[in-house]
Amino acid sequence: MHRRLFLKHASCGLLTLSGAAETLIAQPTNVHVFYDPAILRHEPSSDHPESPRRLDAVMTSVRALERQGRLTVTTPRPATDDDILLVHTPDYLKIVRSEVAAGRRQLSTGDTELSQGSLTAALAAAGTVVSAVDGVISGRTRTAFCAVRPPGHHASQRRGMGFCVFNNIAIGARYARRRHGVERILIADWDVHHGNGTQEVFWSDGGVLFFDSHQHPWYPGTGSPDERGEGRGSGLIINNPFPAGAGRKEILSAFHERLVPAAERFKPQLVMISAGFDSRAGDPLGRFTLTDQDFAELTGVVLDIARQHAGGRVVSVLEGGYSLDGLPPAVTSHLTRLAS
Ligand SMILES: [Zn+2]
Repeated sequence: MHRRLFLKHASCGLLTLSGAAETLIAQPTNVHVFYDPAILRHEPSSDHPESPRRLDAVMTSVRALERQGRLTVTTPRPATDDDILLVHTPDYLKIVRSEVAAGRRQLSTGDTELSQGSLTAALAAAGTVVSAVDGVISGRTRTAFCAVRPPGHHASQRRGMGFCVFNNIAIGARYARRRHGVERILIADWDVHHGNGTQEVFWSDGGVLFFDSHQHPWYPGTGSPDERGEGRGSGLIINNPFPAGAGRKEILSAFHERLVPAAERFKPQLVMISAGFDSRAGDPLGRFTLTDQDFAELTGVVLDIARQHAGGRVVSVLEGGYSLDGLPPAVTSHLTRLAS
């Protein structure tokens, strides 16, 4: 039966397939994937690792799980200027807008290439996280995965860098705070690179616990355990640098032994993940050795924290991940656990 027809029938309750003995009951899925094809319009040069093909690889997994009825794909709205200004300065927004309009191929603030469609794509990416926050807080879905690019966690208030234009997850967190009154948010970042932009945005915020595992020494060079936040944010930045070659043992231990007790003290009302899959073995831009199974276990640790403190609410946001062969199984593993 055609899927749309199936859903139409299924949404009414029970559906009996003619000629089949079984009766199917429509089950709402626990995870919604938020995806706007406008993110493909950011087109760095053809040999750049942060390519639109990454999202084709991610969506191959998403569509396969969608066909199995294990998740729902939802269309988000693009970010407004007001959403962007929750994190970034008006001057920086002006820089992005004018440099894209002028046809510049490189953002003047850092190592992020630009194309004609970069602003459209970057607004779509930030809006995707905002829409996912709305979806999770309103209860339309328990968990959400944002299939976005360009990535965001290197972008600070006044500076895009490291392939990032706007800090998508930081904008989503601030939006949850301002629009929905969520007071305590955990952001767990397992991308192989340190989320320096997210750290800077929430350095003295007090409403966000930022937990980051990353390779060190490596780009961008920040993320020492001494960087712990200040003022109201003092102690709410937890950095876990590990050398090249680190993997399951080091990173899962950090999540179990440091994140779980920190979350126990902080009691987040919303849990967000900077889900970078460049920490997977074989990624061209990292030297960590995490496996697809490890991503399922990391997801499980974070999901348990969300269930304990945050009503199960998780918004996961794609960051890096540059192996076109590695992304599909890693994403499948992450989403399968998120949907459980
Ligand atoms: Zn990365």
